[in-house]
Amino acid sequence: MLWDAVQSPQYPILQLLKIFNVHPSASIPISIASLPAPPAAGAVALMLFPVTSDNLPLSWPLANQGVTIAVNGTSAGDVPHPPTRSSAARTLAGLDITRHAQVGSSLVMSVISTGWSSTMLLAWCGVKTVHDVVEEARTFAMDCTTAKVRSSKPAAAIRTNTLHSGASHSMGCERQGDAADVDSAVVEVSLRCPLSHGRIVIPARGVRCEHESTFDLDTFVRHALQVHSWNCPVCDGPVGLRELRVHSIVAEALFILSDLSLEVCDRIHVWPDGRWDIGSITKAKNLTKAHDVG
Ligand SMILES: [Zn+2]
Repeated sequence: MLWDAVQSPQYPILQLLKIFNVHPSASIPISIASLPAPPAAGAVALMLFPVTSDNLPLSWPLANQGVTIAVNGTSAGDVPHPPTRSSAARTLAGLDITRHAQVGSSLVMSVISTGWSSTMLLAWCGVKTVHDVVEEARTFAMDCTTAKVRSSKPAAAIRTNTLHSGASHSMGCERQGDAADVDSAVVEVSLRCPLSHGRIVIPARGVRCEHESTFDLDTFVRHALQVHSWNCPVCDGPVGLRELRVHSIVAEALFILSDLSLEVCDRIHVWPDGRWDIGSITKAKNLTKAHDVG
């Protein structure tokens, strides 16, 4: 299949029908004498995608580079918004024109641009819901995550160390009293998603990411599908749908803290060898609340 790595996860190309060029102020009607039936049963859509001359995804134009698309004499509606962040890991952003076309009838498209050039693909595509794509990403990331089996930290030890420590400093559950261990190698990791700012549910990062910080997997996938750009919100590196991995250390911390009703703890310290401890509890009153927990 063409363009496998850059296809829209929601609209995978089933059959390419037409490739044509768009130039500013040069509207040439594009026509198909008889629109063929879609090559597969089920949910399908007739989609237009802008690409570069090298068949790489191209974002739709900014408002001041206006493009108007009509199909069989009817406006095809607003084009998708271009991504606002880095475009390094873009996927095809499609315009659904299914409702304007009829299988077996002629199809005439008029694409008028005032300042934008592109090659366009017209294709029959499969259709996946956002929920389907999120589920696919979640399942794949979990299957691929090579969780290093670490000795599970006894919950009671964490509870003891945490609840008897002051709010002004963190207390390593396995490193108490060993100040030399608190060195530059330890990294503070937030348990809040940099995209939603809410608490992370499934902590993820890209397979090539070199940082310990994570983002919420579901939030990332939904955001990427919306902007058609798959860049890590921490390092801006490319993170494709199948390059997401769950951070097993952060996942373990989230699970244990939830188990101890310590959701007030919004950051942890992570050591290179995979150990972690509670980084900070932001407010004394929250610590007091934590003390009250069983
Ligand atoms: Zn990253």
